[in-house]
Amino acid sequence: MKADPAEQLRLLDLQGLDARLDQLAHRRRTLPEHAEIEQLDRDLRRLRDLTVAAETRASDLEREQAKADADVEQVRARARRDQARLDSGRVSSPKELMDLQSELASLARRQSELEDVELAVMERAEEVQSEVERLRADAAGVEGKRAAAVGRRDAAVEEIDNEAYLTQQAREAVVRDVGGELLSLYEKVRASSAGIGAAELKQRRCQGCRLELNTVDLARFRDAPSDEVLRCEECRRILVRTAESGL
Ligand SMILES: [Zn+2]
Repeated sequence: MKADPAEQLRLLDLQGLDARLDQLAHRRRTLPEHAEIEQLDRDLRRLRDLTVAAETRASDLEREQAKADADVEQVRARARRDQARLDSGRVSSPKELMDLQSELASLARRQSELEDVELAVMERAEEVQSEVERLRADAAGVEGKRAAAVGRRDAAVEEIDNEAYLTQQAREAVVRDVGGELLSLYEKVRASSAGIGAAELKQRRCQGCRLELNTVDLARFRDAPSDEVLRCEECRRILVRTAESGL
């Protein structure tokens, strides 16, 4: 293939801009904030699951507490009725009096037992409630960190996109200087050669694969007309001659 030496040199500018675009795309994909946000999302899901579990326990305990309150109240009401009957003076039979007194004593014991249960349920309910509050506070903290990480990610993405836009503009200007045939060869080689389509021949070394020319290729390249498009025999990339090629 033949191409004007100035166009061949422009390929090196194009290669530089394409390498920069590749770097920017890589940086955009691998921003540390992506992993950070994923981790924070996992933390949030875990905290939400724990919160739901604790809230379920809290509402179970609320029901248990209502039942314990009702149990105590039932015994108290019964004791109040017995006591009123006793105080009314209408019970005259000694047996009935004894039965009433014995029932009041047993109701008092029962009430005391039920109040212990009520207290224990109340304590557990308070513990679970403070666990719910702690989990909600933790989740709010993680949400704050996530918002900050999203802000940093968006700022970094915007900066990268701005630079990519300017680089893309510069690339379009360079592309206008390169002939269609040379450009499509460059694109084809670049697609199959790890993003490097054209490399400088510098100090007799291909800057694409870093290998030095053998004496046969060196002699052939030295004799090649300046408008001939050279290819590295090792990596097949387009080799661009410059003042530093050492030919
Ligand atoms: Zn090479």
